[in-house]
Amino acid sequence: QASERESMLLVSEFARDYFNETLLNHPKGKAIGLSYFKERGFTDETIKKFELGYSLDEWTAFTDAALKKGYDIKYLSQTGLTIVKETKQFDRFKGRVVFPIHNMSGRVLGFGGRILINDKKAAKYLNSPESEIYHKSHILYGIYHAKQAIAKEDNCFLVEGYTDVISFNQNGVENVVASSGTALTSDQIRLVRRLTPNITILFDGDAAGIRASLRGIDLILEQGMNVKVLTFPEGEDPDSFARSVSTGELKEYLSTSSQDFINFKVSLLMEEAKDDPVKKAGLIRDIVVSISKIPDRIQREVYIQECARIMSISENVLFSELAQMFKKEQ
Ligand code: ATP
Ligand code: MN
Ligand code: MN
Ligand code: MN
Repeated sequence: QASERESMLLVSEFARDYFNETLLNHPKGKAIGLSYFKERGFTDETIKKFELGYSLDEWTAFTDAALKKGYDIKYLSQTGLTIVKETKQFDRFKGRVVFPIHNMSGRVLGFGGRILINDKKAAKYLNSPESEIYHKSHILYGIYHAKQAIAKEDNCFLVEGYTDVISFNQNGVENVVASSGTALTSDQIRLVRRLTPNITILFDGDAAGIRASLRGIDLILEQGMNVKVLTFPEGEDPDSFARSVSTGELKEYLSTSSQDFINFKVSLLMEEAKDDPVKKAGLIRDIVVSISKIPDRIQREVYIQECARIMSISENVLFSELAQMFKKEQ
């Protein structure tokens, strides 16, 4: 008798196989799902590696197949693969291409599903609901395929989305994971910290995204990790960029364009503050908050010196601000 958790994993793995089989062999799967992935430039090898799939645009095609195989509706419902509403039941990922989400050891915890035609009525991506096996705040998409490369390269690239992870892999960069749209959590960061102390955050090339992510990055500093950031040209995301360059160019860009996080933040905020003294005071405090998150005292001092130089203010101002911050915490 399998445990509750194991039963949920087993039905998820049946779903992975079923969706993948549909994508590769069902006439509609091939015509709709497979051609979508092919249009995005995904190769057969990539599709196989990431176990991508397609869920037919029918209300119960998947649920019927699972029940016929003897899977219990209880676990179909608990994993959210089947939505059960009073007397009705239907397939959650109906009409979407699906991305299985794996844990460190390759078990399938859940899925992300993408609609094929962008329309404003439906969410572009739909994920499995929170459950006993799927806790979105603990999950990093791609970690299973990335773990060896992260340890080997001693660095982890963090991107926003499924397709960013996949296109990087296809273009020869495997040490990459995605937070999948959620704000980064400390549990996710700890997953990476088991493998390397170094994270490089790759932002989509839109200013709003960058601004919103700055706060979250303090979380990484708090874990005592080293954070670098890297931005892409306006309008590009890691996926579109990776597809527009060769493997050599991608690796070259990644190794030469990253910036230390604190320096990046200082430059960005400085640009916004220009010569406005009120804004500048605010930004100094903001930077010192980030620096105060760094557990290592010597590292904090080095950053203070560097920031003082970039902002052309005295180190003393920054040091006393930092001291005040620690006083407040006690
Ligand atoms: P694509 O290239 O397929 O359009 P993307 O990965 O570039 O996808 P973004 O809009 O940049 O998509 O979003 C980044 C990530 O955020 C997605 O991969 C997905 O995990 C998550 N996400 C985006 N939109 C939604 C949504 N409507 N609901 C839930 N998650 C979403
Ligand atoms: Mn985005
Ligand atoms: Mn994107
Ligand atoms: Mn994209």
